[in-house]
Amino acid sequence: MTRNIRNLITGGAGFLGSHLIDRLLEKGEEVICLDNTFTGRKNNIQKWWDNPNFEFIRHDVTQPILLEVDKIWHLACPASPVHYQENPIKTSKTIFLGTYNMLGLANRLKAKFLLASTSEVYGDPEVHPQPENYRGSVNPIGLRSCYDEGKRIAECLCFDYKRMHNLDIKVARIFNTYGPRMLKNDGRVISNFIVQSLEGNSLTIYGSGNQTRSFCYVDDLISGLIKLMNSDQSGPINLGNTKEHKIIEIAQLIKSKINNELDFIFKPLPEDDPLQRKPNIELAKKYLSWEPKVDLNEGLNRTINFFKKELNE
Ligand code: NAD
Ligand code: UDP
Repeated sequence: MTRNIRNLITGGAGFLGSHLIDRLLEKGEEVICLDNTFTGRKNNIQKWWDNPNFEFIRHDVTQPILLEVDKIWHLACPASPVHYQENPIKTSKTIFLGTYNMLGLANRLKAKFLLASTSEVYGDPEVHPQPENYRGSVNPIGLRSCYDEGKRIAECLCFDYKRMHNLDIKVARIFNTYGPRMLKNDGRVISNFIVQSLEGNSLTIYGSGNQTRSFCYVDDLISGLIKLMNSDQSGPINLGNTKEHKIIEIAQLIKSKINNELDFIFKPLPEDDPLQRKPNIELAKKYLSWEPKVDLNEGLNRTINFFKKELNE
């Protein structure tokens, strides 16, 4: 009899991690969710509590841990600028020590290892759209550096483990992803605009609102992560939606779906906030046969429905 696949998902109580757990458990695989619940919630994984294939461990990835697994999906790290800037030294420790500890564990077990990296490794990009071979324009000493430079050293660690120990690593560069289970106080733009609109408040636009982002619906992103983990590719591979929007267009679209009477409040653009971002996903198309399927309208409707329920509870 073949043994069940055992997965370790760090950051599994968070937004992306909990959706990944759903997919793996629905396939009948085993899952250990490891999380310190900084920005994650037990609520996100509550429905699996009694499933014999599921186990939750409250643990901080800055500390080593010994477990027996086949695949490590390393997602633990706050992703919203509001949360990763709350304690930037802790964020750097989470990313560096967390990735170091999990790579060490993967190496001991000869487990496959996937890093949730980010489009932030491109910084405020001068090349548009961003292909994987663009090396980025990152401020090493600014407010976003703990996260941006953190993810860059995390990628470096992955490739050094591959070169020195022949570890089977995979690096996904994730572009802005949204969907149900973002926290209402997450601070990222889609959840902010939806919660503000549902609560009848003005929408907060940072800067002129002419800066751009490209938004991927969570289900699409999770499919990409699974395809990458099961491929023979190490990456880095961009995963994201290629439809680019100005932030002010997103604000207009969301308020038109919820309450067109609302107005905008303009606030200063945060330091080093990238002015443009859009992935080149040719590698993901070629090597993973992956591209996003859910369009922004549909994704926003599903996310708005989630927050309607969330705010009524
Ligand atoms: P999230 O904040 O919802 O989830 C992060 C999870 O990690 C939370 O459950 C949190 O409690 C946990 N965590 C944080 N620090 C920890 C620590 N020291 N030890 C153990 N657990 C810890 O964020 P998300 O959007 O789900 O992002 C998940 C991963 O994907 C992150 O690594 C992030 O950098 C990456 N990513 C996300 C996006 C996006 O748009 N969602 C974009 C690029 C990269
Ligand atoms: N943003 C905004 N209003 C908000 C939250 C964010 O205008 O209430 C802007 C932010 O300045 C950035 C973009 O929206 O230009 C995306 O921000 P988010 O924090 O979601 O992600 P990131 O900047 O990490 O891509």
